[in-house]
Amino acid sequence: MTSTLQELTPYSGIEPDEAWAEEVRRLARERDAVLLAHNYQSPAIQDIADHTGDSLALSRIAAASDASTIVFCGVHFMAETAKILSPDKTVLIPDARAGCSLADSITGAQLRAWKAEHPGAVVVSYVNTTAEVKAETDICCTSSNAVDVVASIPEDREVLFCPDQFLGAHVKRETGRDNIHVWAGECHVHAGINGPELAERAAANPDADLFIHPECGCATSALYLAGEGTVPREKVKILSTGDMVHAARDTKARSVLVATEIGMLHQLRKAAPEIDFQAVNDRASCRFMKMITPAALLRSLREGADEVHVDQETAARARASVQRMIEIGQPGGGE
Ligand code: SF4
Repeated sequence: MTSTLQELTPYSGIEPDEAWAEEVRRLARERDAVLLAHNYQSPAIQDIADHTGDSLALSRIAAASDASTIVFCGVHFMAETAKILSPDKTVLIPDARAGCSLADSITGAQLRAWKAEHPGAVVVSYVNTTAEVKAETDICCTSSNAVDVVASIPEDREVLFCPDQFLGAHVKRETGRDNIHVWAGECHVHAGINGPELAERAAANPDADLFIHPECGCATSALYLAGEGTVPREKVKILSTGDMVHAARDTKARSVLVATEIGMLHQLRKAAPEIDFQAVNDRASCRFMKMITPAALLRSLREGADEVHVDQETAARARASVQRMIEIGQPGGGE
């Protein structure tokens, strides 16, 4: 797997027409496969999938499914999480090069070194991490339950929070803890959505709600602006991608500004077609997510590639940290 920002050429050359859709469905039946698509996938991939959602919800659907094969249209750590929760199933990702700059911002070796500097600290990792990092983690969290997970840790224990600095800042502020250390990782897409841009868009659309993913660089700024009265506090909603879909159905606003990866707009528009959803930054597109092309999906189903493997010991340790998260609170969301 490669997930640096070097040039990676996705599988291409196939139009997602009806013939493609029929062939995908036929091959999926033949393989006894369930097709899962993350909310940041392109619309054609989202529409052909059996289930669309955030990474953890999809992994849990995969584990509960009768299908013997899971085709995970998302990035590599998500397919790994599905494999961790469904060790007996075959897990395929249409292009194993689809990595994640956030997951890659901390390695297992770096986390081990950090732990050695803080003996006795409790490690909390966001689900956007590799299996190796999850195996070194005490409790995983999603963006929706990160605050509850950290609040469940005795106050006198140090906490190491990784890998996302923006989510870590949000948790630190909400819990008021000063013994939490935050890893300086970030996602190149979310970091590109910034506070000034959000303030400008909010000022131009005073009646719009603001749906913000806490990994966005603007999450802290949004709360600050709300505190200042620049953006009305009741308009700012810090939500996981799964919770955004619920909020779209419930909001009374006629327009909503969305601060996360632009693939999310497709699900929101489907959930509430009468609302005008606009991206805060319409360049916020994850190139790794978009490597799962119609051609890549077809190849995956035809060739049974790329299969995801996690060694048994790593998977068992990683599974324990994911299960601790589930015991603490119903995790809605994550990316
Ligand atoms: S949007 Fe960012 S965090 Fe999400 S998969 Fe892409 S690089 Fe990773």
